[in-house]
Amino acid sequence: MFELKLKVFNTLFDVLKEDLAVNRAYDCLKVICSASVDALNAQNEEPITYTRYQLKLIIDGQQSVASIDSKDLGKWMSDKKLSAYLDLVITKHTKKFEEIGYIPVVKTNETVGGKGNERIYWLDIAEYTPVKNEEIHEPDDEFISYERVDPSQVKLSWFYRLIFKNGEIQNRSLRGLILFIIIFGSLIFWALYVCTFALVLVREGQSFTSLDLLFMLCLFGFSYLSYKYWAKPIWNLPEHRVIKAPMTFISLNEDHADIEMYRDRERNQLTRVTRFRGICPLCSAEVVLRDGKSDHNLPLVGRCVESPFAHVYSFDRVMMTGYLLTVGKKGF
Ligand SMILES: [Zn+2]
Repeated sequence: MFELKLKVFNTLFDVLKEDLAVNRAYDCLKVICSASVDALNAQNEEPITYTRYQLKLIIDGQQSVASIDSKDLGKWMSDKKLSAYLDLVITKHTKKFEEIGYIPVVKTNETVGGKGNERIYWLDIAEYTPVKNEEIHEPDDEFISYERVDPSQVKLSWFYRLIFKNGEIQNRSLRGLILFIIIFGSLIFWALYVCTFALVLVREGQSFTSLDLLFMLCLFGFSYLSYKYWAKPIWNLPEHRVIKAPMTFISLNEDHADIEMYRDRERNQLTRVTRFRGICPLCSAEVVLRDGKSDHNLPLVGRCVESPFAHVYSFDRVMMTGYLLTVGKKGF
């Protein structure tokens, strides 16, 4: 059994190192697998167990677990997600495990949860039994649920950090008014600037050089870009409720964020910077909101980071769910 375990875990670790993925289940499995291999190499056959807290601490760092509660940890990772991803890995690399005759499985303790009864995970092996093809796809594959990333985790650019308090702003407040004035003031200012520039050029009509033409082109180019990527999305916000945050909103080392307009319990309109994310039911990678245009006639869709054009989901902001839009093209 000892030799078999080492063989299975080594194979799994090699597969994980080779088949890189960007998702939590992958990171967790890699941590558990690596520690299990090390223990077996040191002749320790006791299962190496991890709590969700320990896993998150290793993967996301000290800061991410500072104020986390058990409910969030439950959402962060579950044995179902771990097993689903492990199954996917095994299905993809069946041959390697078929040769050994055993596959790795995720084990967890029987606990009701709560303080003191923490759920722990470890890896074990089980005899390999071939699965029939029709069992692989379940109807569950087509539905996704989204969650909001905590606003404090989304880093804003220094300018918007001054206006947004904790990533949130009340539309009918002084801060809201300032934001409104800045946005529309800069639009008007820019329009005036372009007009003046054009007027000056017309007056100097006789000495119109190619340098002036270059200036004009740059000016129009910049106007077009700021209209498309900054003014138009913000204009759409009240109607669409969620938009991708324009680049100027977020700090340089942040990939992307979403801006959401919503009503709180007192029916105040609020605008906040957040990020919606889900786990792809087909491949367990992260799903983020992206522009839906060109292949889907929707302003925003959930796209899987590993397969952004095949694993595409709709996005319902109220129910926080979505369904697979690429039916018929389903596959890994
Ligand atoms: Zn996917």
